[in-house]
Amino acid sequence: MPLLCERCKREVYRLETCNSCGRKIGVECMKSSQRISKTTRLVICKDDWSDMKKRTVYKNRGLQAQASTETTA
Ligand SMILES: [Zn+2]
Ligand SMILES: [Zn+2]
Repeated sequence: MPLLCERCKREVYRLETCNSCGRKIGVECMKSSQRISKTTRLVICKDDWSDMKKRTVYKNRGLQAQASTETTA
């Protein structure tokens, strides 16, 4: 069963879930990703990246995660 990107509907070899809109997207529709913990990765698609509010939320979540790992380490 082929994996289909929910944003561009093309077939992809691997799906990532956008944390902003919840769609499963391929790498080519993924604008940015960051690791916020050992097991959690934050992904944002190109649509949400162009949305200033969503982009800010994405960046803040990354900054918060960085701050919390620094204080606990
Ligand atoms: Zn796509
Ligand atoms: Zn998205």
